[in-house]
Amino acid sequence: MKAIVLGAGVVGVTSAYFLARLGHQVTVIEKGRVAAEGCSYANGGQLSYSHIETWATKSSLFSMLKAAVLPGSFLSISDLFNKELQRFLFEFYKNSDAQKALENSQKLFALTSYSREVLQKIIGEEKISFDYKKEGILHFYRDPKKLEKAVKNAEYFNNIGCKAQILTAEECLKKEPALIKLFDEKKLAGGIFYEDDASGDSSIFTNSLTKICQEKYGVIFRFETDVKNIMTNHKKITGINAGKEVFVADKYVYALGATGIGLLKGIKVKTKIYPVKGHSLSVACDSEFVAPSSALTDPENKVVYSRLGNNFRIAGTADFCGLRSGHNRGHLNFLANVAKKSFSDFGNVSQLKEWYGFRPFRPNSIPLICEVKKYENLFLNTGHGSLGWTLSAGSGKILADLVSNSPERKFAFLNEELF
Ligand SMILES: Cc1cc2nc3c(=O)[nH]c(=O)nc-3n(C[C@H](O)[C@H](O)[C@H](O)COP(=O)(O)OP(=O)(O)OC[C@H]3O[C@@H](n4cnc5c(N)ncnc54)[C@H](O)[C@@H]3O)c2cc1C
Repeated sequence: MKAIVLGAGVVGVTSAYFLARLGHQVTVIEKGRVAAEGCSYANGGQLSYSHIETWATKSSLFSMLKAAVLPGSFLSISDLFNKELQRFLFEFYKNSDAQKALENSQKLFALTSYSREVLQKIIGEEKISFDYKKEGILHFYRDPKKLEKAVKNAEYFNNIGCKAQILTAEECLKKEPALIKLFDEKKLAGGIFYEDDASGDSSIFTNSLTKICQEKYGVIFRFETDVKNIMTNHKKITGINAGKEVFVADKYVYALGATGIGLLKGIKVKTKIYPVKGHSLSVACDSEFVAPSSALTDPENKVVYSRLGNNFRIAGTADFCGLRSGHNRGHLNFLANVAKKSFSDFGNVSQLKEWYGFRPFRPNSIPLICEVKKYENLFLNTGHGSLGWTLSAGSGKILADLVSNSPERKFAFLNEELF
């Protein structure tokens, strides 16, 4: 069977990899020069298998609203008159109901756990290097009240199998000596350590897997080929108009992330995806500098830190500005300030690289990995929001099994997600 995958981000490439492994003839169409030039390029690098609390909870809704009106915070909303954002926020509010939020966390945990398992298999079988660190992620807190609340949540999530260790400030410092600044300033209340979590460079991973797809499994990548529209006869997809050609296959997979959603709207497929812009700073840090060496999360500021080889990555912020291009200077300053206040040293700041990307966000934080009932040969693998790197391996496998009607097919709830 011939399959076309639209998009060579981390989700498109894992989809292509598993489709090819199941014996399909796969072509990937991508507008970039290489893989992972979109949201998979310089994200936080965290494989946050335990980070299953969705964005839509009553307390995070409140802190997001507060942040939206406070100048210099991690979040801004400039697109409020956009009907799609209004619909998104309404759905987001509905998902913040306690019972719904819990169900969404349980679904996410099923997906993250599976993804962890699948990534281990890929690493074992393909021997990919991508600055992978399987050493857990430490969430550190300054405010004792916020820590107490997070501990309650962690204890609750422990019951569904999500392993968490509660640490004192001293124990946090032992795990990550670069927290000394906060400790000395008496600003470190403690932390929660998630031992199953990991980190790694999603761009290096995606490009390495692309090479393996090409050389070992015969996948064809058509780079610098912009998808202009998806052609249909109202019942099925008949071709992809991209570059100067029409590409035809038996089955089609949408993995264009947030920036390609207009193409789905063009064929009347609703996804409830809204693009949430985020930023990162990458700082070169060789042996001269004492940047943190482990993966850290600062939940109070919604910032993540990862050490990816000789780079220290600082990532976060949420800008609800539609697909407006360009950096949000205020958000980049926010990241730099939070890092400066947290660590006395984190690399050569004169060589700082700035980046932004659009997270394909759904109000319930559950991705769409499903067939589109309206078109019998169209499948979606998108909407992974802030966890696309974490979920990519499992998502690629689930998608390929779904396209192939393979008996290994799991996660029935994903098929109910679209409508
Ligand atoms: C600041 C930030 C930090 C993050 N940190 C983390 C983290 O620590 N851990 C984690 O798990 N996730 C994280 N994420 C989320 C994660 O990066 C995304 O969920 C993930 O990269 C989405 O992958 P994707 O393949 O769906 O989309 P993308 O990577 O955006 O891939 C889509 C591809 O489609 C291509 N494309 C789009 N339109 C067209 C077209 N018309 N024609 C041809 N090609 C097209 C694009 O060029 C792109 O290559 C973060 C995101 C941001 C913004």
